[in-house]
Amino acid sequence: MLACLKASRTSRSMRAALAAGCVVAIAPGCSRPPRLAADLVITRANVWTGDPLRPTAEAIAVIGDRIAEVGGADDIERWRGPATTVVDAGGRRLVPGFNDAHVHFVDGGTQLDNVDLKDAGSQEEFARRIAERAKVKPGEWILGGEWDDQRWTPAQLLTRQLIDDRTNGTPVFVSRYDGHMALANSAALGRAGLTEQTQDPPGGVIVRDANGFPTGVLKDAAMELVNRAVPKMTPEQRLRAVKRALEHAASLGVTSVQDMNPGYDDIALYADLANRRELTARIYAAPMETGWYDQAKLGLHRAFGSSWLRLGAVKGYADGSLGSTTAYFFQPYTDAPQTRGLLSDEMQDVGQMRTRLMAADYAGLQLCIHAIGDAGISQILDLFDDVVRANGERDRRLRIEHAQHIAPKDFDRFAQLKVIASVQPYHAIDDGRWAERRIGAERIKTTYAFRTLVDKGVRLSFGTDWPVAPLNPMLTLYAATTRATLDGRNPNGWVPEQKIGIVEAMAAHTSGSAFAEFQEVEKGTVARGKLADMVILGEDVFNIPAARIKDVKVLTTIVGGRVVHQRNP
Ligand SMILES: [Zn+2]
Repeated sequence: MLACLKASRTSRSMRAALAAGCVVAIAPGCSRPPRLAADLVITRANVWTGDPLRPTAEAIAVIGDRIAEVGGADDIERWRGPATTVVDAGGRRLVPGFNDAHVHFVDGGTQLDNVDLKDAGSQEEFARRIAERAKVKPGEWILGGEWDDQRWTPAQLLTRQLIDDRTNGTPVFVSRYDGHMALANSAALGRAGLTEQTQDPPGGVIVRDANGFPTGVLKDAAMELVNRAVPKMTPEQRLRAVKRALEHAASLGVTSVQDMNPGYDDIALYADLANRRELTARIYAAPMETGWYDQAKLGLHRAFGSSWLRLGAVKGYADGSLGSTTAYFFQPYTDAPQTRGLLSDEMQDVGQMRTRLMAADYAGLQLCIHAIGDAGISQILDLFDDVVRANGERDRRLRIEHAQHIAPKDFDRFAQLKVIASVQPYHAIDDGRWAERRIGAERIKTTYAFRTLVDKGVRLSFGTDWPVAPLNPMLTLYAATTRATLDGRNPNGWVPEQKIGIVEAMAAHTSGSAFAEFQEVEKGTVARGKLADMVILGEDVFNIPAARIKDVKVLTTIVGGRVVHQRNP
């Protein structure tokens, strides 16, 4: 039945449905032409449609993967047929499905599958979790971790002996939460060929016992010695990561993701899952900008593909990150005056970057460029300006990913060039704990400057950068509306003038992100003819204190008219 409703507009869907003789309920003895019945009706919903022309509704009818009608209870009741599935929202808030405009989907799924040691409260608990994992998948590398030795009393550094006997031949390499230290067991050291003879590499330390033997703890650059030995992902592992990522997205109401820098293996897997109708989130894939010709030579251009999988964007980098003092600024870092950050490898020859971006744009590919420091952002705006001048005006929806620290002079250029600010509000409440120390009081005024961007008429799209930040859209909405840093020190907001309202935040995470991938006609609001991607929330985010938004749960997630997640209130 779904197959006959794949047409892209409701009217076409209906015609196809009639032609195929499906989803039709005929009243007995009635001579009127057969009436279409909905596959799904959602009743008693408190709908925020996101559509300014018709902001609220009570009920929705869905045929196939599209919304057939949005309206009052009576309007929708007539769509109900004998085979219609009915979801009673119980008066709860229904919103469009969330669209995360910046994720690293396979990395996120991989992380979900890794052993989690974040809240292991003792070394014994740490060892127990690893031993348990080794029993489930003997021989398969145990990675991830995020352990925190400060939780243990006394805070004592780990050694491989703690886990060796319980893991035998299963290699273990688990990192401290800050990523600057990791513990390897003997099996992992063996596979890496790391012995007491191995020298410390520049920028790294192999921690050794009294006899000079490695304890298993490796610091900074020394971690690479073991990382090199970790095998590439197998197709089965990749599939498992994607499936875990899809489940996680569904449980959080994320119905679309925009995947930054996927490998071609990842995209092939998405295509396979799309063909098998096993995707439960729609994917827009933006591979690395340096490989732009791979897409261009096939004639793929922006948003090419199906409603489930699209290509036609490229993702590039201007600079690094604030945390590692590699975001590129006009002025030196306040706490590291010897540096003002670094341009990325690809930007070392700006002329070559310009040539690639112009060529990719000329081929019709969408440009999404990571830029964090004010000078990095400014340089990308310069390049975008060059691209527009060279290739002429058109609807190209240039994007700056992160757009964290914008020089005051550049807000107007953002607006003039119609550049989309693809931002991750969670970073603001995370970095906000220490950003002022790093860049000073003046520059933080235009850091994560969502209010200024909206006021200047710049389009916002929201995402998370998952797994760098949690995928949960409630945390993103909470961060944008409260700016309450994770350390609890700014309950009224860090740089509170840059807060935005819940309606603006919700729009940025739904229609804003849809616009950023050229899909605003297809999704992002609850409206007739659009893809039936919707979420029912446990609480009404529009009418609770912003501080509570972070705790709101997603009860039901519907993608393409199919319920892909359901939990009890
Ligand atoms: Zn990213």
